[in-house]
Amino acid sequence: MPPTLRLRVTPAAERQIRRGHPWLFDGGIRAQNRPGADGELAVIYDRRDRFLAAGLYDHASPIRVRVLHHGQPCRIDSAWFAANLDRALAMRDSLAAADTTGLRLVNGENDGWPGLVLDRYAGALALKIYTAAWFSRLPLLVNLLGEKFPAHSVVLRLSRNLSGSGDWRDGATVSGPPITDRVIFSETGLKFYADLRRGQKTGFFLDQRDNRRRVGELAAGRDMLNLFSFTGGFSLYAARGGAGRVTSVDLSQHALAELRDNWQLNHANSAVRDCPHEEIQADAFDWLAQTGRRYSLMVLDPPSLAKREADRPAALGAYQKLARAGLRRLAGRGLLVCCSCSAHVSTEDFLAVTRAAVTGSGRQIRELAVTGHPPDHRVTVEELRYLKAVYFQSA
Ligand code: SAH
Repeated sequence: MPPTLRLRVTPAAERQIRRGHPWLFDGGIRAQNRPGADGELAVIYDRRDRFLAAGLYDHASPIRVRVLHHGQPCRIDSAWFAANLDRALAMRDSLAAADTTGLRLVNGENDGWPGLVLDRYAGALALKIYTAAWFSRLPLLVNLLGEKFPAHSVVLRLSRNLSGSGDWRDGATVSGPPITDRVIFSETGLKFYADLRRGQKTGFFLDQRDNRRRVGELAAGRDMLNLFSFTGGFSLYAARGGAGRVTSVDLSQHALAELRDNWQLNHANSAVRDCPHEEIQADAFDWLAQTGRRYSLMVLDPPSLAKREADRPAALGAYQKLARAGLRRLAGRGLLVCCSCSAHVSTEDFLAVTRAAVTGSGRQIRELAVTGHPPDHRVTVEELRYLKAVYFQSA
């Protein structure tokens, strides 16, 4: 056995970790006793050689260590992972419901599992890792999930920067009955397909659940436009909520085909069945600029427009342009919902540009609400907050 991997860090890094920040960057390391291997436990010491934290080492990432534990020394073994998982699950106990079987169970850093998320879709779990550091812990985790969720399937997902090996491949069922097709799950009684093996994120945008519910409650009698519809989450909620008509626009043919399947899946619901619905494959920006219609309920939920910090100014411009274009097509007494899922765009900045679009429209518009993450996507690390939405109503 090689000696424990020991790191000494800069005063700035020490302060960050003491505050509970989960990342140690390569630049924060002053010294280490030997080269580390991916996924091994690194122990971080403070200036006076006292234990500070322990976490997973990742030699190729600028985030060199993802902290699992800080404070008093402790053993990070299978019992530790089991207790941590129990804590994350207990926090979500009250959120599980018979009619909502799609839920995030572990939200990465925010739940003390840096670089890992766990989503549940009915009888299947999607375990997604964002760092190679987790590979060596996968046998332990899969075992643990098998114990906690007997008879469930576990599908492994790897973020784009990771390549799999052996049994650990993107989309592979690593425990339980093999997943060979899409999974059907429920959200507040609506049914959806999720492609756990290949879909975006882990197959569905579970994070927008509360906004979808809210939109459904506001939809009665409205002519709804869902831009960037993906597989129709907002569209179906609006239809169930009594929208007079629903138009969904997305660039992806595949997403629109899934949307049609989701519509079919909810055919037993008469409001959904009877709601006239149109799907349009188009660039949402172009389409909005040329449509002649006005809508009384509009949802603008684009993909992340700032993937990096450097994209921030352009993204703010795009959000503003989108809100302006939306406002031009918003009917009197219409509702406009603007969303952003860019972590590099703060809530304040997003609100500032959308509010400026509202003011610039010269119309009388009231702000109804600002929303953020749903409870299963809890945020404890501020810089990982990404989701925000603002609701406007025109006079
Ligand atoms: N509102 C959705 C999630 C939207 S994800 C939900 O609640 O489930 C973003 C979607 O935007 C994806 O489906 C992607 O295909 C689509 N998209 C990306 N760029 C686009 C563009 N320029 N025009 C239209 N759709 C686009």
